[in-house]
Amino acid sequence: MLNVEILGGVGEYGRNCFYIEVDGQAILLDCGIMKNAQKTPPSLTAAHIEKLTAIFISHSHIDHVGALPIAEQLGYTGPIVMSELTQCQLKQCYRNTSIFSDASLGQWVSISDQLAFKWGYSGHVIGSVWYQIRFRSKMIFYSGDYVADTYVLQTTLPQDDLLYDIAFIDSGHVEKHVDNQVVLQQIVQFVQAYPQQSIIFPSSFSGKTLDIATYLYQHTARPIYVEQSLQALFQQYIESKSNIQIENAIREVFWSPMDNIETGLYFVAEQEAKHYPQAIAIYTGYLHKKGAYHHFFYKTHPDYEDIVQLSQQIRAKQVIYFHSAFPVQLGCV
Ligand SMILES: [Zn+2]
Ligand SMILES: [Zn+2]
Repeated sequence: MLNVEILGGVGEYGRNCFYIEVDGQAILLDCGIMKNAQKTPPSLTAAHIEKLTAIFISHSHIDHVGALPIAEQLGYTGPIVMSELTQCQLKQCYRNTSIFSDASLGQWVSISDQLAFKWGYSGHVIGSVWYQIRFRSKMIFYSGDYVADTYVLQTTLPQDDLLYDIAFIDSGHVEKHVDNQVVLQQIVQFVQAYPQQSIIFPSSFSGKTLDIATYLYQHTARPIYVEQSLQALFQQYIESKSNIQIENAIREVFWSPMDNIETGLYFVAEQEAKHYPQAIAIYTGYLHKKGAYHHFFYKTHPDYEDIVQLSQQIRAKQVIYFHSAFPVQLGCV
């Protein structure tokens, strides 16, 4: 029998954590906390941990991994499955990290005779993945955080036409209708209209930041600088042999100290933006701030059309839409 418990991440933006029990054994999909001041954890208890045979991690953001220390404190000692790049990005080590390599792409990876998975790239950040999981008698799909139209990172979907017992689909931007390619062009036009001004992009550790920086590098003559806290993102990208759309990749960018700000384009961590009051600020995500800035929304999750398309491609008896406070009502825009 299939028993699913949403421990966080549905009807809210954060603390993604999904418990799936089949015939008395369980797995967990991600183990995140809210990105709020309280760092609200998921509703994970020792009773869940007792039955847990594996935790699958989609990527390194804290709304997907931030509660792993809690799982360990509650006594979890089983495998924590993730990609090699995800492990590199984690801020701390965990006891039983179980890494799969690029070579296993498209193949079933066995954890036990009752549990196996396939994975593919989800395009959200370098190393982020979706999972297809065979758990006892059940088939499960978990999209992780998914971006359908990326510029730099690869995005795939399962090729085999399975009918899943349950699918979890990222609905992070269900209220939006966005074409990322158009947004990239709009940002280039804006930048070109201010040739003598320095411009900052308050940015996060995500594929979006790679997309925008790379596109600007290729379509403007402006120097591009990356602030120190984001350089690891670019370093992984430059060194990566996989997960990249080769035709859009560039291999030489972008370091610079930020002290002599002139007419460049600057990618800075969001909390650093206040140090550059003389620059024009361009925000590309959800806005929680007041003040002067420009805004071009760029997707890091599926928008409404992407969700409709994913729901057609991933055939499932039951679908759980997560990562949004908005309800998903397909067919009624
Ligand atoms: Zn994420
Ligand atoms: Zn997320």
